[in-house]
Parts: sequence; structure tokens; C-alpha cells
Amino acid sequence: MSENQQYDSLEASELFCPRCKRSQAVRRHLLLVLPNGNRYEYRCTACGTSVGGKKDNDPTEFQTILRGT
Ligand SMILES: [Zn+2]
Repeated sequence: MSENQQYDSLEASELFCPRCKRSQAVRRHLLLVLPNGNRYEYRCTACGTSVGGKKDNDPTEFQTILRGT
């Protein structure tokens, strides 16, 4: 397995959902695109409850929007 293939699995794919009372698959939603990074929220795919959040420091998305592409 290469490092690159492993990268995606570092993203949260399952988190404990307090509403389902068990670990559930989650989907990542982009909440905010900021000049210094993006803010994400993880939501349970079963009930839609927000089960966590994350902020990265990747300005790529913001610059993409600025370029209008
Ligand atoms: Zn749930």
C-alpha cells in the first residue's frame, strides 16, 4: 500500500453518534471556506446529527474560488 492510498483513510469515516448511540458512517460537509483554511462538519449518515468538526489549513479551496474556476 502506498502512502497516497492511505491518505484518504485518515479522514474520519466513522464517528460515535450520540443519537444513534453507536458508531456510524459520517459524511463530511464543507461549512466555510476561509483564506487560511476550510471548516468542515461531520454528520451521521443515518440521522444527520452533527458528530464532529474539523478545520484544515489548506487555502487551496479559497484560492480556487478567487480564481473563479
Ligand atoms: Zn446518527
